[in-house]
Amino acid sequence: MTNQCAIALGSNLGNSLATLEQALKIISQTPGINLVAASSWYLTKPIGPPQPDYLNGCAILAVEPTPEELLVLLQAIELQFGRVRIKESRWGARTLDLDIILYGDLIINNSDLIIPHPRMRERAFVLVPLSEIAEDWQEPVSQKAIAQLVSEIDCSGVTIFQPSELNN
Ligand code: ATP
Ligand code: CA
Ligand code: CA
Repeated sequence: MTNQCAIALGSNLGNSLATLEQALKIISQTPGINLVAASSWYLTKPIGPPQPDYLNGCAILAVEPTPEELLVLLQAIELQFGRVRIKESRWGARTLDLDIILYGDLIINNSDLIIPHPRMRERAFVLVPLSEIAEDWQEPVSQKAIAQLVSEIDCSGVTIFQPSELNN
């Protein structure tokens, strides 16, 4: 049985565009995972400590793995791209960040996994790309569609990425 899941991808260290595209390819080639849709890439202003702008996007996946299995898979892919958690400050720069945003209409509140992602509703860098590919998906906590959530926040820090803009 497959479930529809939404993930967010982000990077602001190294060759972010190549990292995100390769990561998405690895994810979509993983047994039990099929890529349903991918958003454009967006250049976004960072939250947290001073650091380079991010490149962010979202993807819809049809997945067989459970949410917990998917988290393990995504964290292994982060490691492949050289992410070193121990060195990071909270919300600091990273080569690759893969978050589970939605998993069907499941609500999960474990110590190591919260779905829907607890900060998705306030994040333009998640909601803008997600609205491109899942505007009608109802976020089960607020019970609002992604299109509604994105209309309620300031999205000025999020712009479609033009390849000539990235210089890090
Ligand atoms: P944020 O969660 O605010 O986006 P972050 O992505 O920088 O911050 P990380 O350091 O990547 O945070 O992850 C911290 C922990 O968050 C992970 O070890 C994981 O167990 C937990 N976590 C909880 N819910 C989720 C989720 N939906 N997707 C990914 N990780 C999650
Ligand atoms: Ca994150
Ligand atoms: Ca994360």
